[in-house]
Amino acid sequence: MTEHLPTPTCAIRGPVLTFTGDPFQVGVEDTMVYESDAIVAFGDGIITHFGPATDIRPQLPADLRIRNYGPDALISAGFIDSHVHFPQTPMIAAFGGQLLDWLNDYTFPTERKFADKVFAASVAEVFLHECLRNGITTSCVYCTVFPQSVDALFEEAERLGMRIAAGKVMMNRNAPDDLLDTTQSSYDDSRALLQKWHGRDRLMYAITPRFAPTSTEDQLDAAGTLWDEFPDVYMQTHLSESPGEIAWVKKLFPDRDGYLDVYHHSKLCRPRAVFGHCIHLTDDELHRMHHTGSAISHCPTSNFFLGSGYLDIFKAADASRPVRVGLGTDLGAGTSFSILTTLNEAYKAAQLNNRKLTAIHAFYLATRGTAHSMYIEDKVGSIAPGMEADMVVLDTKSTPIIDYRMQFANNLDEVLAIQMTLGDDRAVKATYVNGKCLYGTA
Ligand SMILES: [Zn+2]
Repeated sequence: MTEHLPTPTCAIRGPVLTFTGDPFQVGVEDTMVYESDAIVAFGDGIITHFGPATDIRPQLPADLRIRNYGPDALISAGFIDSHVHFPQTPMIAAFGGQLLDWLNDYTFPTERKFADKVFAASVAEVFLHECLRNGITTSCVYCTVFPQSVDALFEEAERLGMRIAAGKVMMNRNAPDDLLDTTQSSYDDSRALLQKWHGRDRLMYAITPRFAPTSTEDQLDAAGTLWDEFPDVYMQTHLSESPGEIAWVKKLFPDRDGYLDVYHHSKLCRPRAVFGHCIHLTDDELHRMHHTGSAISHCPTSNFFLGSGYLDIFKAADASRPVRVGLGTDLGAGTSFSILTTLNEAYKAAQLNNRKLTAIHAFYLATRGTAHSMYIEDKVGSIAPGMEADMVVLDTKSTPIIDYRMQFANNLDEVLAIQMTLGDDRAVKATYVNGKCLYGTA
C-alpha cells in the first residue's frame, strides 16, 4: 500500500488516540490505538505515516518539519457531526418551547432569510468557521428550502477543502407558504443541486426531506425516486424525536405501521440514510433500521434542550441487531458546536438509561463511529496511512480547573472523561482539514 501514498510534506507529533474498529461491538482492547508520543505525517491531504515517534522519524525525509504539540496535547481524527442545521446558526439558544412550537416561533422565520444568497453565504462562513474552531471536519448538513442556501454552503466548504454532506430541505406542507416547495420543484431542484455538487472535490449530496409532517407522501416518494437514480448520495431526515411529533405522524399517515414505516414505504431506508434523533423507536423499528443499514444521529444537547427525551445508545447498538449510531449537534436546537460538550450530554443521556458511556466509547462515537454511520470510515474518522488528513489537536489542560484536575488523572479513560466533562472549544488547539491547518497554530 505504502508505495501508492503521496510523499509527506508535513508532520505533527504528540499523543494520538484513534480506533481501528467499533468498541461497542468488539470491546476497547481490540479497537483502540493510543500512542503517548506519535508522529502523523501527511501529503496531498492523505496520511502517509503514523506510529511511535521513534519508529516513524527515521522513515521521514530529514528536512521535513515536524510540529511537536507536546505531551499535553491529544491528537485525534477530526470530529464528525452527522446532524446539523447551518441556517439555524443565527437562532441558537432561542429560548422556550418544545419541538413543534419551536419550529413555528423561531426556525421558520429565520430560514426565510436564506432566500437571500448573500445572507446565506455570510452564515455559511460563520457556521463552517465555528465547526473548525470546535475540531469538526465533516458534517451532514440541512440547508433550507432555497437552493441558493445549498450553493452558499457548498461554495464555502469547497473553498476550505472540507468533506461536507448537505442538501436542500424538501418541504411542501405544514410550514409557512413562502417556505414551501412542491413535489415537482423539490425533485427538480434537489436533482440539479446533486448533479452540480455531489462528488465535486470532497463534497457529498444529501437528499433532505425535513421530516414526514412537512412532506406529503407524494414528496417522500419523489425523494425515494431521486435516491434510486443516485444511490450513492445520502438521505437525511428526522425520526421519532418527540411524542407530540410521533402522534402527529400517526394522524397524517394513518395507513402506515408507525413513523419509520412512512419513510420505508417511500424507499428511504437503506445505507447512507441518516435519521436524526430516533429516541422513541420501537423494537421492530430498531430491527428495520439494522436490516436496512440505516443510521441514527444521536443529538443529546438538542434532545435535552427541547425536552424530547434521551436515546438509549446501548440498546441501539445491541449486538443482536446493531444499528449504526453517529453523533449530531443538531444546531440550533442543539446548544453547542462543541463535540466535547455534546459528548458530556451523551454521557448524561446514557446515565438516564442506566447505562455507562465510557469516555473511550464517547471519543469513538465522535470520530470513527460517526464515520461508520455515514459509510465513510474508509476515508475519515481515524488516523492511519491512506486515510484523509482531517485531524483535531486538543489541549488537555485548556482551562485552570482542567489543568488542576489533570494532575489527579490516573489513566487515559480519566483523562478523556475530564476532557469531555469540562472541556469545550477552548480545548481545540488546531484543526487540520485535508492536510492543511485551518484553525489554530500549525
Ligand atoms: Zn434537526
